[in-house]
Amino acid sequence: MVGYVGRADKDVNSRLKSWVDKTKRPFFKYSYASSAKAAFEKECENYHEFDPPGNDIHPDRPDGAGWKCPRCDIFDG
Ligand SMILES: [Zn+2]
Repeated sequence: MVGYVGRADKDVNSRLKSWVDKTKRPFFKYSYASSAKAAFEKECENYHEFDPPGNDIHPDRPDGAGWKCPRCDIFDG
């Protein structure tokens, strides 16, 4: 099962290290994206696909980015 999905726009190494002490499931997979926007869209797809119990809220966009979720209309309007 997938417990949580996340994204690191700058440093996936430090992001994982900050997270690993806070979870009961310290196992992870990662993949790279070609851009920050592609990473955001991939995170959204994973969020909707797996509905992870560790994600209380929808993935957020970087400040100032007008991107839309490819799966839902949370950022519309
Ligand atoms: Zn969405």
